[in-house]
Amino acid sequence: MTIAVTKSRVEDKLFQNRYLVDSGRPHIKVRPHERPSANLLALTHVCPAKCYDLNDKGQVEITPDGCMECGTCRILCETSGEIEWDYPRGGFGVLFKFG
Ligand code: SF4
Repeated sequence: MTIAVTKSRVEDKLFQNRYLVDSGRPHIKVRPHERPSANLLALTHVCPAKCYDLNDKGQVEITPDGCMECGTCRILCETSGEIEWDYPRGGFGVLFKFG
């Protein structure tokens, strides 16, 4: 008897999600800063959707279009005021295909 095992990568599963972007109304914003704190800098590594990146001045920027609303960045940086976080307006944001 043979059992078929199929493996799938996380990236392949994430690709199944769909996003409806609310143009001009990002639901997460990074407050202006000169140098990022350790927590803000960490977002460039821990965001599962890779929404955070460094610009050429070493400041953290966000492109929230692929955000999965996991809340990781909210936990790390909202209380310090480094980011503003809200859910997308109704009907916008991530549309999970599997749960
Ligand atoms: S909520 Fe999660 S997926 Fe969205 S930007 Fe923050 S860390 Fe990334």
